[in-house]
Amino acid sequence: MENLKDLQQDWIKKFDKPFIIAGPCSAESEEQVMETAKQIDKSYVTVFRAGIWKPRTKPGSFEGIGEIGLKWLQKVKQTYGIPVATEIANAEHAKLALEYDVDYLWIGARSTVNPFTIQEIAEAINGTNKVVLVKNPVNPDLDLWIGALERFVAQGVKNLGVIHRGFSAYKKNKYRNNPEWQIALEFKNRYPNIPIITDPSHICGNREGIYDISQQAFNHKFAGLMIETHRNPDEAWSDANQQVTPDELLRILKKLEIRNNDDSDAIFHSKLNALRTQIDELDHQILDLINDRFGISKQIGELKKEHNVAVFQSDRWNEIIKDSKEKGAKIGLSGEFVEKLLQLIHVESVEIQNQIMVDKTTKA
Ligand code: PEP
Ligand code: MN
Repeated sequence: MENLKDLQQDWIKKFDKPFIIAGPCSAESEEQVMETAKQIDKSYVTVFRAGIWKPRTKPGSFEGIGEIGLKWLQKVKQTYGIPVATEIANAEHAKLALEYDVDYLWIGARSTVNPFTIQEIAEAINGTNKVVLVKNPVNPDLDLWIGALERFVAQGVKNLGVIHRGFSAYKKNKYRNNPEWQIALEFKNRYPNIPIITDPSHICGNREGIYDISQQAFNHKFAGLMIETHRNPDEAWSDANQQVTPDELLRILKKLEIRNNDDSDAIFHSKLNALRTQIDELDHQILDLINDRFGISKQIGELKKEHNVAVFQSDRWNEIIKDSKEKGAKIGLSGEFVEKLLQLIHVESVEIQNQIMVDKTTKA
């Protein structure tokens, strides 16, 4: 078996500009596919995408138009001369996508997590010259992502790339899927030969963040982007919130700055950016957690109100400080810092509970 590290990806080298994949989340009708393909500016967009089989979170949602959509993709290719891409999630999809001569096959995040699925697909496309783009698994597991690529290599698939589409988190924050840039950067570090394409649509889950994520991908000098584009996003049958119109797509692409220089300054900025992004994500998580804590404080306030108990309980406060200082000391935080931080949070909590008591008095 060839080594993933040694496989030079010549397929991407023929492009002298960023590799942009655009098109709807799902193929819905021939008219929707053709009209979207028509409106997309082919001087900026390299590949037209459309999902034919859609892995949906819950049953009962639109699960893709199926085989007929492959005919529409063929028509796009014939009419506009643009190569096409679709997601394959099992051996049957793989067989059909090859039959209909789909140029780029991508593996969805929900498939990358399952080695049996990947093995099945890899065997079904054994030895293909098509380009296979493997999305990161939904969970932040770099080895699982790499393992999927190795399964393709083992089946003689040599034209490879990855798609960075972010990672699921239990706690919802501003992203639908956290970018976790450090994972993609670590991938780039280990496999500089494998192109990374960022998918800001699935990272953001909305239209507003797409430009920022795209620019960050370019700051890290990733190879390209996959951006969901629909002739009428609000009416889309899947992922309506995150799709942009062909016009919006063009505006985003024109605004992006491409970083070409390979000097140490660029590397410094790329690292700085990745670290700052992590700080921003953590700050948001801290705020969400504090907010959750206040929510529980409110419930305690209601309980105290019902039982006519005083808001401030000095025993409880002393216990919180003691426990937190001990925990802080174990992980290297100074006692003074822990006390100050908790004091701030506690004062606000007491204020929230006092407000609940006052409400009681006014209602009574
Ligand atoms: C998609 O690209 O439409 C898709 C289903 O993506 P993911 O596998 O990243 O969820
Ligand atoms: Mn989608």
